[in-house]
Amino acid sequence: MYVRGVGPRLAEMLAAREILTAEDLLYHLPFRYEDRQNPRSLDELKPGETASVIAEVRGSTLLRTRKAPIFEMTVGQGRLSLKCIWFNGSYLNGKFQAGQTVAVYGKVEPSRSISNLKMIQPQFEVLPDATDDAETRLLEVGRITPVYESLGGSRLASRWQRKVIFNLLEGMRGAVPECLPKEMLARLDLPNRETALREVHFPPEGTPFAQLQGSATPPHRRLIFEELFFLELGLELKRRRMRQRPGIEFATTDKVREAIREVLPFHPTSAQKRALGEIVADMRQPSPMRRLLQGDVGSGKTIVALQAMLVAMENGFQAALMAPTEILATQHFLAARKLLERSSRRYRIVLLTGSLDEDRKRHTRSLINSGEAQLVIGTHALIEEKVEFDRLGLVVVDEQHRFGVLQRFKLMKKPNQAEPDVLVMTATPIPRTLALSLYGDLDVSILDELPPGRTPIVTRRVPGERADEVWDFVRKHVAKGQQAYIVYPVIEGTKDDQPELDFPLDEAEPAVDLPPATTGKTTRRGKTAELFPKVAPEPNSGARAGLKSALKSATEMHEKLRQGPLAGLRVGLLHGRLDADEKEIIMRRFQRGEIDVLVATTVIEVGVDVPNATVMVVEHAERFGLAQLHQLRGRVGRGAAKSYCILMTGPRVSPLGEERLNAMVRTQDGFELAELDLTMRGPGEFFGTRQAGLPEFRVANLVRDRQLLELAKLEAAGFANASNSNQAKRSEAADPERARVWARLKEAWQRRYGLVEAG
Ligand code: ADP
Ligand code: MG
Repeated sequence: MYVRGVGPRLAEMLAAREILTAEDLLYHLPFRYEDRQNPRSLDELKPGETASVIAEVRGSTLLRTRKAPIFEMTVGQGRLSLKCIWFNGSYLNGKFQAGQTVAVYGKVEPSRSISNLKMIQPQFEVLPDATDDAETRLLEVGRITPVYESLGGSRLASRWQRKVIFNLLEGMRGAVPECLPKEMLARLDLPNRETALREVHFPPEGTPFAQLQGSATPPHRRLIFEELFFLELGLELKRRRMRQRPGIEFATTDKVREAIREVLPFHPTSAQKRALGEIVADMRQPSPMRRLLQGDVGSGKTIVALQAMLVAMENGFQAALMAPTEILATQHFLAARKLLERSSRRYRIVLLTGSLDEDRKRHTRSLINSGEAQLVIGTHALIEEKVEFDRLGLVVVDEQHRFGVLQRFKLMKKPNQAEPDVLVMTATPIPRTLALSLYGDLDVSILDELPPGRTPIVTRRVPGERADEVWDFVRKHVAKGQQAYIVYPVIEGTKDDQPELDFPLDEAEPAVDLPPATTGKTTRRGKTAELFPKVAPEPNSGARAGLKSALKSATEMHEKLRQGPLAGLRVGLLHGRLDADEKEIIMRRFQRGEIDVLVATTVIEVGVDVPNATVMVVEHAERFGLAQLHQLRGRVGRGAAKSYCILMTGPRVSPLGEERLNAMVRTQDGFELAELDLTMRGPGEFFGTRQAGLPEFRVANLVRDRQLLELAKLEAAGFANASNSNQAKRSEAADPERARVWARLKEAWQRRYGLVEAG
């Protein structure tokens, strides 16, 4: 479609921002609005409020200071004036002329100068005057004005978008096709598509301003709902298609129940019972199970999975458990073997990992292929080694985030056999509503309760300068017969060696110096004092500020600690670059208590279970993501003794780093931390968008729009239900509204979400 104001060159620039059609442009919504209907006058402004002011430029100047140039502009109304200040403002020099009318928008601050008030780094726009065209004036003065994020350079800035979108909407008056059923819109009290688009860009007079800024007006809600509805409808279809595929109908007889009872070493928590109930109910269905078992570290997922695997085995099928690392696969193998030894039945369990020698592999493969091996535990090797199961009934995948291979399970079964059930376990506590809606093709069970008898872990922040106290603390605990982890962000000292780091050195957010007050923060509750009594806040030296903080590495610190502060202790080293055998030897020695202190990278993050380890030290904790820190902390507190997590920080901590660390100290609730992580990072990064198959949204925001997501899910299910009967199908063809919904769904899924076709 031809859009006025967009030539080939601009089209190219837009395409770079994935704006390919007029529709894409219309769905590029303003990120904020300015109320220029009744601009605020300077005499009513109060410090602390955020306001939009239209005033005349009185003068401006660029102040060259030693640090960074500051641009100052004074704007006025009659005798009153307001000072606007931009740091690093050289780019503004010469931009304003005295006498021009400008709109500035920002937080009002008190000022000591004669103007009395100031704004720091306000948003601004030079307003059109009589020499500008009427259209520009119409769109920018005397109304609620939309402000857009630039789509590339000054050419495609806010003003340009306003005009193009305005013209586009004018040209399409009465012709924007609706894509949702009228009945649904009426019921939900949402405007039609055309009205929504028009008013979201050019809000009518009197639209409540706070609603606009919060994307909560009916037009906003309509567009957000629309986007989420099509996401949910697509997921709903995937789920339905899965339900129609042939799977295995497992039976739960008394014999099966008895088999489970024999091996259970403790009373399951009620969350474990509920989850197992949900899993088994799925397994009894004739269609394949696709279920996510979600539970915080230590919530006892493994035993639940093992029970499900027993159901499969007792039904004469094989079960497979895939773990992300060899260490974990081995740990699961040993644990499962120990548990199953309690049984009067003789189960055959095998372990298949990449590091086995060829003979062993071949032998193991043949046991799997013949069906002799009933329980198969392994790593990726299970897929890579072209293992063919005799009668695969259930696949359990530990930590799906490390895999992304859901589609490949088919490779593991023989042709012509029914599809196995799949249970995915994850310790990433995804907020429930999100899990339900996003893993739309998985059903979700949640373990939201820890087994009894856990004592909370004490978490403290300690600045790196006080390392000596931390090492003393570690020694003290080792002297009591306990063990400790010390985790580093990198393996070796070189810069390109940060594979396991969430927030690399050149993190986009600006790093700020730790003010001395931070030391105070750790003592705020008075508990750090008890842990580390000699608080000596070190003033922030200027020299340190300029220092590009080098990261300490596991390898280097292993040497240093062994020879210095931890001399005499048995200190081991574990990282991702050791070969599998070495890793395993070290991990086993740590498990057996032959190593006191394990210096490591995040290799130990997932699932490693050593109840005697009570101290977790993380150096450069500011560099780790919340989820990672939470996982690391979950490595301790697994036994009866009191455990500690000590988060040591480097010289510079970014504001977001501060927030992450404070959250870790504040709470141990994985779901709460996940919520926060989600808010801080945005859903895309939280899930690792591409990897998790999570769509990118144009207008929706999963954190903000959680309720609309629920609504959309409900409506999508209802819509799909109504199409189920044959009669409905026939009448559907005759119902252009419903047909349009399906057409739109196809388009939306292919174009926007790029998700793999259900299959
Ligand atoms: P997850 O895999 O969810 O992190 P695990 O399955 O490793 O947790 O369980 C953590 C620890 O708690 C294990 O040592 C396990 O034996 C123990 N455990 C699990 N369920 C219970 C229970 N119901 N009662 C007591 N201990 C339990
Ligand atoms: Mg089934």
